[in-house]
Order: sequence, then C-alpha cells, then structure tokens
Amino acid sequence: MSEVSSKEMYEVKKTLKELENKKGRGTELVSVYIPPEKQISDVRKQMVDEIGQSSNIKSKQTRKNVQSAIEVIIQRLKLFPKAPEKGLVMFVGMIPKGGPGTEKMETYVFQPPETVQTYIYHCDSQFYIEPLRQIIEYKEVYGVVVLDRKESTIAVLRGKRIDILKHLTSGVPGKHKAGGQSQRRFDRVIELAAHEFLKRIGRHVDEAFLPLKDELKGVLIGGPGHTKNDFVEGDYIHYEIHDKIINIVDTSYTGDFGVREVIDESADTLDEMDIMQEKKLMRKFLTGLISESGLSTYGEKEVRQNLQMGAVETLLISENLKTKRQTYTCPACNTIDIITTRQHQEAPEQRCPKCNEIMKVTGTQETAEELIELAEEVNSSVEVISIETEEGTQLDKAFGGIAGILRYKVK
Ligand SMILES: [Zn+2]
Repeated sequence: MSEVSSKEMYEVKKTLKELENKKGRGTELVSVYIPPEKQISDVRKQMVDEIGQSSNIKSKQTRKNVQSAIEVIIQRLKLFPKAPEKGLVMFVGMIPKGGPGTEKMETYVFQPPETVQTYIYHCDSQFYIEPLRQIIEYKEVYGVVVLDRKESTIAVLRGKRIDILKHLTSGVPGKHKAGGQSQRRFDRVIELAAHEFLKRIGRHVDEAFLPLKDELKGVLIGGPGHTKNDFVEGDYIHYEIHDKIINIVDTSYTGDFGVREVIDESADTLDEMDIMQEKKLMRKFLTGLISESGLSTYGEKEVRQNLQMGAVETLLISENLKTKRQTYTCPACNTIDIITTRQHQEAPEQRCPKCNEIMKVTGTQETAEELIELAEEVNSSVEVISIETEEGTQLDKAFGGIAGILRYKVK
C-alpha cells in the first residue's frame, strides 16, 4: 500500500465535510467514481448515454440540471487522456444558495488517496460520498486476535475489510475425568500445553503485527472464556503490540465468526479512537505548557518558526482553522510579502514596505495546507484536531487553532 500524505488526507476529509451537507433541489447531483483500469473514452460514452436516459426525467428543471452536470463531466474528462493511477472521483451538480433560482453549478474533481475499486455513476439529491469515505477508512488498520484453548485466529481489519492472516489449533486435550493422582498429573499436562499454545499464538501475533506497528491503530482481543485474559495478562506478546490493545471482548465463537463478533462489539471503541488520540495529544500539549518544559508551542508565527527549524514532533491543527496566506508582490520592485487573513476576507490593501507602491495579490493558500506541507517536509507528524472535544475547542479558541509539541526545547 502506498503512503498517503497527511496533506492529501486533510484535503479529502475537508472535501467530504463540505460535500456531505450539499443538497440539490431535485435528484440532480451527479457522482462518478472511475477506477484506474477503466477507459476514459468508455466513461465518456456512458455519460452521453446518461444524457439520453435523462430525457425521461419529468421535471424540466431537474432534467436540465442533470444534463448540464453531465456536460460538465464530459468536458472535464477531456483533461484526462487516461484515468490517473488511483482513479478519479467527480461530484458535479447545481447547488442552491437560497431560494429558487440561486443554484450554482459546483464541480469537484479529484484523484483519491486510495484506489477506486468499482465504477459508479450515481444521480441523487445528494452527492454519493460513501465510497470515498470508505477509501479513507481503509487507512485505519486494527489487529484482531480471537482465541480459546483450542484454537486462535489472527486477522487485520482495514476500513471495512477483514483479512484473516492465520488459524492455529492447539491440540490441547479437553478436560478429562480420571480422578485422584492421575487426574492431577493430567491437569498439569493440560496447563503446560495451554501455556505453550499461548506462547505460540504470541509469536504469530508478533510476526503478523510488528511489521504493521506504525500504521496499527489498535489491537482487539476476543474469545469465549478466560483464555484471552490469560493471554493479555501474561507475557506473551511484544510490548509495542501489547500497548495497542484497546478492547477485550467476550465472544460466543472463535474462528472467523469470532473475529466478526469482536469487530461488531468494538464499534464504539473504534469510533472513540480518533477522539482519544486527539485528546491524548492535546493533553500532552497542555501539560507541556503548564510545566513550562518548553516543549509546547502555539500561534501561527511560533509554530511556523519551529517547523522550519525541524523542532516540531507533532503539529496540531484545528479543523476549524479558517485563515489563508496571501502572497503580495510589488509591481514596481518585486518585493514579496505574505500575510495571513481570514478565509473569506477580501485581501486588504498592502503597500510595499520598500517603495510604498500598492502591492498585488499573486498567490493564496490555506494556512492549514501550508503548515501541513511544511510539516511533511521536515517529517513532523500532523494531527488535525476536531472541535468535538473540550480540548479541541480550546485549541480553536484559546490557541488560534495552531499548536505544536516539540522534539526538544528551543531557546
Ligand atoms: Zn516595491
């Protein structure tokens, strides 16, 4: 699997957020997913067919809007002689800004961070964003281990896909009723065999999960009975994998069914994972501030400086950050100046600091995007913080939406 940059992810997530609230007046918003192996010329033909089909739409307004959306798609497809490496996603439609007559054609065309699997043409009153959401979720990797005394299954969950990696059986005999001396000896043999089996599972778990440890967001353990708890409490797996255990589930089954059960039962835990990660980092940042360790920084200027020095371990950006960077160039002496403004603010008049000429805006970029790019250049990790938690709101309101956890104290 190829690496997806934080910036790509940030952009897709942002687009998803924008798209999920858009609604057409009728069933007239068109979504198209094109897998990389699909011929663009075929897609174009299908679009022409769709225009033909759409003549059956009763409402004249809806018909007209669907047809113009498809026209836009056909035009845009001309820019692609063939589908990009990971495919192409397009959302086109008339979005009302207020009452009737305020609709404006909106077009989103982009190359997704992960490969489009199936061709989809979809026309509805909302954009069809579910496949795109799944493409993103595919990035979330969890390890799953289900076990009892008899067998164990090791699996990996990627988004909604489950890959079974290993089935193990123990050969540990069941309880035996002999009574007396031989019963005790027999029980001891069983205990030893069970212990050996847990060791074996542990080795396979390490082998399966250690190579994934950087992308692994958590490990889920399940099974009927107490064996899973013995496994977690004992010293059977590598500490870096052990540290990632986020849920232990009682199941009715082992095997593939057990894996499914563990995942279903962990839905809430998985939802909370992102939030937990955000909270954890924000607390680290806040603790750093209070302790005056010098390892926490905030504010656009300070954070950018620290990024440029390579001192930032983790860049924290509020999803609510709404500023952009305007580049001004002096037409007389070419002096360049960059200032930050609010996202929807008109660029204020700027005079050249050298010759006092009125400067021209020659470039604009979102501040979040610029900082994330900078972070990637110097290998800082990036966490976009939602405003769903108290800590996240604090980042937005009290720290201007930009903060950093530093690798070392900067004088
Ligand atoms: Zn000038």
